[in-house]
Amino acid sequence: MEKQETLDPSDWSSIREQGHQMLDDMFNYLEHIRERPVWQPIPQETRALFQESLPQQPGDLAVAHQTFMQDILPFSVGNAHPAFMGWVHGGGTPVGMLAEMLAAGLNANLGGRDQIPIEVERQVLQWMRELFNFPPSASGLFVTGTSMANLIGVLVARTAALGADTRRLGVEAADQNLVAYASAGAHISIAQAMDIAGLGSDALRLVPVNKQRQMDIAALQLAIAADRAAGLTPFFIVGMAGTVDTGAVDDLTALADISRQEQLWFHIDGAYGALGMLAPDIAPRLHGIERADSIAFDFHKWGQVPYDAGFILVRDGMQHQAAFASPAAYLKREARGMAAGSPWPCDFGPDLSRGFRALKTWFTIKVYGAEKLGQAISNTCALARYLAQQIEYNSELELLAPVSLNIVCFRYRCADSDRVNADIVVQLQESGIAAPSTTTINNHLAIRAAIVNHRTCRNDIDALVKATLAFGKTCCKNAANGKR
Ligand SMILES: *Cc1c(COP(=O)(O)O)cnc(C)c1O
Repeated sequence: MEKQETLDPSDWSSIREQGHQMLDDMFNYLEHIRERPVWQPIPQETRALFQESLPQQPGDLAVAHQTFMQDILPFSVGNAHPAFMGWVHGGGTPVGMLAEMLAAGLNANLGGRDQIPIEVERQVLQWMRELFNFPPSASGLFVTGTSMANLIGVLVARTAALGADTRRLGVEAADQNLVAYASAGAHISIAQAMDIAGLGSDALRLVPVNKQRQMDIAALQLAIAADRAAGLTPFFIVGMAGTVDTGAVDDLTALADISRQEQLWFHIDGAYGALGMLAPDIAPRLHGIERADSIAFDFHKWGQVPYDAGFILVRDGMQHQAAFASPAAYLKREARGMAAGSPWPCDFGPDLSRGFRALKTWFTIKVYGAEKLGQAISNTCALARYLAQQIEYNSELELLAPVSLNIVCFRYRCADSDRVNADIVVQLQESGIAAPSTTTINNHLAIRAAIVNHRTCRNDIDALVKATLAFGKTCCKNAANGKR
């Protein structure tokens, strides 16, 4: 038989050995992650390594791996590290990492067809119906993240409001102008979803928030009444289950009631907060979430599944399918054979080819179990309360927003506060000691610690406070002397 060149190795024993080395290196990385800085500035030479021209000739796997270890691994953003508290990033787990390798080896495409990988995705869907108390007719889909899940929520609600013809005719043809409502603390992806859906981001009303940074219910009712009086068509209310800047949770029961009275679609942006349902002490805070028409959330945040793993859950699976299913000759369904098993995941979203995100999620839930994942979520909230206490004990520090879940917004007290606190955050990040980010609260720049990682512990909080006080002292003094 003629021997044909493929991309597989001619010598499996050497790739096997190299592969074991790669696996060991990643176990070592995770086992000893505390000994590393969270993040470090990237040297110019390192950046330059990734500006070479297209390689024409084969390279050595061991050399590429060495480049990874030396020049890639140390310079990621560091969200696997326990002292990472910037933005809202999950920490990942060794189990998720292994599952990702298995998924890549199988190279399954979950757009459709009759295959067990899709049953794994349906299993996760079934678990989510159970967690959120949704009916068996509810549908769901893995997507990149909550930005995409929010978009799907808006599109399903839009098609439900205007009818399936809108998909053909466009929103211009409709004789209604749809408007939506979310709190002023809503994530930007909701306005983007309105834009992409052709409704325009101006059609999203950002309703003012109360002291707890929850949507002001009276203001919402006024806004709906004003829009109706102006001849517009309210169609969509977003409830926040954990806002990205402070972790505020809207009064979801009140929003569910208003959605029902006004016959509006009730969508939840629960990007990280929705999985608080796994934690017995947090779940009651989310009361009302079980009444939503759709819930967007991420397994890659509080669920600790490696990136990316977003999810959209829709109460009425038929409405979900009606917003996306499209006939195509090459996607014909059969009762038997590989083209069986309809409807397929591609009938519920814009993606046709889709990876096996479900596998790392299935492994994470099977291996750790709901209780332990919930415990990790509770712990991050307890750490946030602990950090808030430390801030209250230190007169140099000031809390800028109530701590609702796992996010703490605070500042170092100083005359030139915004500039000094921005400096403190940069210095913290560059020191590698801790990595918070910033946000703006009531026009003040805040140091924002979002505690999401299951590895974070009290020592990390203590180190953050200690370093903030030290950097604050020098930054504040320098600002007073006109230096930076
Ligand atoms: C992170 C986040 C998003 C966006 O989710 P991605 O997974 O990054 O796309 C949306 N809403 C909230 C509240 C978030 O925290």
